[in-house]
Amino acid sequence: MTEGSVSWRDRFPDEITCVRCLRTRDSTDLDRLFWCRECREAGRKRAALWGWAVGGVSAALLALYIWLVIRPSTLIIGGWVATVGACLWLMSRIGREVIYGVMRFRNRRAVEARPPTERPDEADDASSRRSD
Ligand SMILES: [Zn+2]
Repeated sequence: MTEGSVSWRDRFPDEITCVRCLRTRDSTDLDRLFWCRECREAGRKRAALWGWAVGGVSAALLALYIWLVIRPSTLIIGGWVATVGACLWLMSRIGREVIYGVMRFRNRRAVEARPPTERPDEADDASSRRSD
């Protein structure tokens, strides 16, 4: 970034509280929604886990439909297995992206977030960070 260019970060102080984990972070560590890097990664992991659940349920429902309604012959069973596998993979990816998008849209604090008053050890962390 050049000296004269303007960033959205210029309007904010150097340290900003992450809206997700409620910890004070350097402004360069936060994105436009004020999520820190750790929170984005944790959100992605959580969304991926729920995405696999969405994929698993979708694949199970599809397998049930194929088993009960289509009643496939054993001749092309590999194709049906591949169809269910593709459904699992695709729906887990779609589920992950939709769930992560909803997380970002709602922009709520994380379950594990603790307000600063509940963290007495934070003062020690802040002083040690300034020294280096
Ligand atoms: Zn955070």
